[in-house]
Amino acid sequence: MPGADQLTLTTATALPRELQTSAFFFDVDGTLLELKPMPQDVVADAALRDLLRALAARNAGAVALVSGRAIADLDRIFAPLILPAAGLHGAEIRFPDGVRTHTGAGIMDHARPDLARFVAAHPGLMLEDKGATLAVHFRQRPDLASDVLTCMRRFAPGDDIAVQEGKFVVELKPAGFDKGSAIASLLRHPPFAGRKPVFYGDDLTDEAGFSFVNKYGGLSVRIGQSDVPTQAQAHLDDPAAMRHAIMDILGARDSDT
Ligand SMILES: [Mg+2]
Repeated sequence: MPGADQLTLTTATALPRELQTSAFFFDVDGTLLELKPMPQDVVADAALRDLLRALAARNAGAVALVSGRAIADLDRIFAPLILPAAGLHGAEIRFPDGVRTHTGAGIMDHARPDLARFVAAHPGLMLEDKGATLAVHFRQRPDLASDVLTCMRRFAPGDDIAVQEGKFVVELKPAGFDKGSAIASLLRHPPFAGRKPVFYGDDLTDEAGFSFVNKYGGLSVRIGQSDVPTQAQAHLDDPAAMRHAIMDILGARDSDT
């Protein structure tokens, strides 16, 4: 089987040199899986679950999901596979030993009713209530992008709530958490501790992860067009290329596919 030393140069830049000393962190939507109009329609197929399971088996379990979704939603997508995970942009974390942290319960209570009214008054917008974060999706109404952003900023005047922009979505999240802090937290625990972080992401919310990984001496890879400003060191075209990259990491892909 081809190994990491047989990879093409283009692909190799998006792959870590050493499987055994790397800790893998994956964003989900737009990275491992294609975006869908409705977030609840995203489900991982068996082939992807098998790849992640195989990567974790080869890597002492140093594979985690880092997402804006709630961990419960990540578990739904990847069921029956359960991975260490950071959800809600790091506001909740499930460590490899199953211990969980959760921050921000109740923090959105004051914003929730007014935001629901705003969304109800603008057909095509969708409010996603994830407890400690609130997301307004405007995929069906891209013309309302700036209105949504302005509205969300009104709800984050203090220090406790931050605004997170993404692809056709703006979120309110507890301040002080991002994908960089999420990766940092996981890296303090075995089997992640002592390994070089490798982070794959596709969106604005992943830039904090790229930045942290770069400072930590790891590898940052952005999924999507290569001409977008980013802090990532390398890029892959789409989730299909991401999947092929995992196969390459495992040495499980024929060189002509
Ligand atoms: Mg994403």
